[in-house]
Amino acid sequence: MSRPQQITVLGATGSIGLSTLDVIARHPERYQVFALSGFTRLSELLALCVRHVPQFAVVPEAIAARGLQDDLRAAGLPTRVLVGEEGLCQVASAPEVDAVMAAIVGAAGLRPTLAAVEAGKKILLANKEALVMSGALFMQAVRKSGSVLLPIDSEHNAIFQCMPQDFARGLSSVGVRRILLTASGGPFRQTPMAELAHVSPDQACAHPNWSMGRKISVDSASMMNKGLELIEACWLFDAKPAQVEVVIHPQSVIHSLVDYVDGSVLAQLGNPDMRTPIANALAWPERIDSGVAPLDLFAVARLDFEAPDEQRFPCLRLARQAAEAGDSAPAMLNAANEVAVAAFLDGRVRYLEIASIIEEVLSLEPVVALDDLDAVFTADAKARILAEQWLSRHGR
Ligand code: NDP
Ligand code: MG
Repeated sequence: MSRPQQITVLGATGSIGLSTLDVIARHPERYQVFALSGFTRLSELLALCVRHVPQFAVVPEAIAARGLQDDLRAAGLPTRVLVGEEGLCQVASAPEVDAVMAAIVGAAGLRPTLAAVEAGKKILLANKEALVMSGALFMQAVRKSGSVLLPIDSEHNAIFQCMPQDFARGLSSVGVRRILLTASGGPFRQTPMAELAHVSPDQACAHPNWSMGRKISVDSASMMNKGLELIEACWLFDAKPAQVEVVIHPQSVIHSLVDYVDGSVLAQLGNPDMRTPIANALAWPERIDSGVAPLDLFAVARLDFEAPDEQRFPCLRLARQAAEAGDSAPAMLNAANEVAVAAFLDGRVRYLEIASIIEEVLSLEPVVALDDLDAVFTADAKARILAEQWLSRHGR
């Protein structure tokens, strides 16, 4: 029997990280944890190290690293602790590693994910922000290294499963007319518009179907998540923004669809549990048990669809405009959104102001070409400064 695959989980303490470790633990003969990373939840990281005995753990700074290293030694574990972005890049690209789960949230995930791409690893991509920021450079690096890039985002994993194997030849040459990207509509799909001005972070994070980290939960409430996913789909499947249509489907049972020129529409269905796309990508092209219960269509009973309302969800409009503008626009959109969402979660801005901040940032900066990673981070930094300026101008 072949040796178990060595897996690095970046963002192990998060929602996707924990679901990944749940699937891995079901298949010890197939997968072994090589490295885990955490950022603030370091006692959880220690517990994960005790359970999975990785060779490396990565934390953001030296004092935390010393504390964790002492605890690991006291527990009799061989795990070595590395520090910061350099540590993340090291465990993402180490020669022993077969696959990297990229599940750090936000722009912080970009460099380590790219390090894994450049080392030719199999990439399980949850960190959609990395692709939104630097899509052209990212996909160029994938082609250069020959990395296998597998989407974890449930919609993109669904699209991947419904696409023909040779979709890289171009959508029109494989007979694909449109990608139908489904969205639940989040917790505010039917909230009276007048109430949206006063919704709280906890209300925004109470997603009707999915349990996720707080940043992506707010993105789902504003539908910025679907906007980021539209951009993500364009890069993953070489689609134009106009070829990706957003469909609100409140039950989150259909995870997305592909519409072919002969009138066939293929969909992937399943219970809303991220362990399905994670297991799909881990084992691809094989299939393994994910621990997810079989879909009970009689319990689901009905599937509804509606068009998104851009008045209610201005972030979706802003993201589509950024997708169409291309170049630096998606990176600026993403960075402004990260600042705005963090401020909303801190209680410093109101929910409706998230879109206002992003709209202002995008209107103030011209779109420029992103020829290298420095240009990506410059665009990201500019957008963050402009968003912070909005906050200070409004006394937040
Ligand atoms: P969580 O907030 O639950 O987890 C984020 C992870 O990243 C944690 O391990 C966190 O560490 C770590 N982290 C946070 N900030 C930093 C930083 N600056 N540097 C290094 N590590 C950091 O998020 P999710 O698991 O929900 O999401 C992860 C990614 O997956 C996101 O990009 C999201 O868009 C995407 N995704 C998530 C889905 C979901 O169902 N949750 C679905 C589809 C995509 P710590 O917890 O220790 O602070
Ligand atoms: Mg998704």
